Amino acid sequence: MKCWLCEFSDDTIAKRLNQYAADQISCMDVETIANAIHEQLVEACPMSDGIGSDEVLAHFTHHTIAPNIRVAMELRALLQLSGKLRDVTTTTDEETGLTVVDAKNVTAYRQVVQDIMNIYKLGDASKLMFANK
Ligand SMILES: [Zn+2]
Repeated sequence: MKCWLCEFSDDTIAKRLNQYAADQISCMDVETIANAIHEQLVEACPMSDGIGSDEVLAHFTHHTIAPNIRVAMELRALLQLSGKLRDVTTTTDEETGLTVVDAKNVTAYRQVVQDIMNIYKLGDASKLMFANK
């Protein structure tokens, strides 16, 4: 069975909620957006009463291919990963107390930063293919 947002994707309410997600994805994480949309959906469409916020979240994490949503989610994941990798680029040698650079982690960190920069170079994700879905 399709989720409500997929099943009624051409419906005015679903379009408005998907647009809300697209508008908010740059400043809110997808979990917060899913909760807000769930509240709006239940209020705007009583027939959707059985839908849970977890189903709304699944719509954005598994169903949608809208680039503005997907690109923003991947960017957030890469930003988190870059922070974790940055933290492990150096260690302290227990015997000498000297800082030791972990070349493997530096390489991984630099690659993730490059991937992040490449996403920023994409420009406006809403202009990419499937943007209006
Ligand atoms: Zn869906």
